[in-house]
Amino acid sequence: MMYMERKQMFKFRLYPNAEQKRTIDIHLEICRRIYNELLGIKIETYNHTGKSLGKYDLNDCLTQFKTERKNLKIIHSQVGQNVSDRIYKAFYNMFARIKRGEKAGFPRFKGKNRYKSITYTQSGFKFFNDKKLSVSKIGDINIKKHRDFSEKNRKLIKIKTMLIQKTPTGKYYAVFSCVVDVKPRKASNKSIGIDVGLKSFLATSEGTTIEHPKYYRKAEDKLAMHQRRLSRKKKRSNNRLKAKQKVALLHEKTANQRMDFIHKLSCDFAKNYGLIAIEDLAVKNMVKNHNLSKSINDSGWSLFANQLLYKAENAGCVVHKSDRFFPSTQLCSACGNRQDMPLEKRTYKCSCGLVMDRDINASKNLLNDALKNTAGTAGFNACGDDGVLSSLKQEATQLVGR
Ligand SMILES: [Zn+2]
Repeated sequence: MMYMERKQMFKFRLYPNAEQKRTIDIHLEICRRIYNELLGIKIETYNHTGKSLGKYDLNDCLTQFKTERKNLKIIHSQVGQNVSDRIYKAFYNMFARIKRGEKAGFPRFKGKNRYKSITYTQSGFKFFNDKKLSVSKIGDINIKKHRDFSEKNRKLIKIKTMLIQKTPTGKYYAVFSCVVDVKPRKASNKSIGIDVGLKSFLATSEGTTIEHPKYYRKAEDKLAMHQRRLSRKKKRSNNRLKAKQKVALLHEKTANQRMDFIHKLSCDFAKNYGLIAIEDLAVKNMVKNHNLSKSINDSGWSLFANQLLYKAENAGCVVHKSDRFFPSTQLCSACGNRQDMPLEKRTYKCSCGLVMDRDINASKNLLNDALKNTAGTAGFNACGDDGVLSSLKQEATQLVGR
């Protein structure tokens, strides 16, 4: 049987005892200090010599620290090295953003409680039994596995790294990055265009819209209320601490609800379609526009797009991103005519007779664009489904013929 590898994350709640919690907190604090120190050295070195310290140079510094300080032996050596990795990655990501022409902040020093996770790469952890995760330098921590992660099933799962995370609400999680062997699924031969809705969450080329989940607005109002309360509390008072905790809990709850909504929706699309057409939204550019900013931020559209890409890859489905300058809202999806579409125009009306919701019209244009650009390409052959290819070609010729 043919298997293919894919990356997958598994996140399980940890229930450390009081002593283990203390230990994790100490490790986080040590890592935070190393992080700041190494970041400082990297910046200083660059300022004085123009030399940019790489991952290995930073690890050398770390080895030097270790000979000088005892407390560094408390943490697992890989956990320490991962701190250097994070600094390296922070700079790498910054330069990548600059290259893409996006705004990029300089890697920052981390204030108290701003270092929230430690990573074990490769080793230093193993399942003690079904209910306990054995972690080097911390102990056997109670873990709740809500899905099958047993030895038998793990034959198909290779664990790459394990990260212990502490949330602002004081919960602990273990996140396993794994490589999973999966049987490739036969991709569907249906295709669909999806556009960010202005009022709704999204609109599709099939003429449907999906509304924002209602709980979100409600939760947002509640959050605003608690944030106002928090701002009225005295600094460093007990009541302030309580109010802060309440806000953190609400944030966590909304984030979970939103993620749940996005997971289900992206799963549905990836499962049911072989080709999904979306717009390459430069969200950062759009947020500048006040009219759009609220809906874009609220909708978690970029979260959705990321999940869609990730799930599509696993489901053998193709996601086509139209160029961000492709005028999806301005074109008529029936005849190709182009007109200005200011934000207040909710309906697209064309001289050819087309009358359609602006977002649905845009999603049809995105689909047309995707069909034009993907028909007959190697990427589609790679799906191993001739049905997809031929039906796409057919649709594409229909489009060109119009
Ligand atoms: Zn038209």
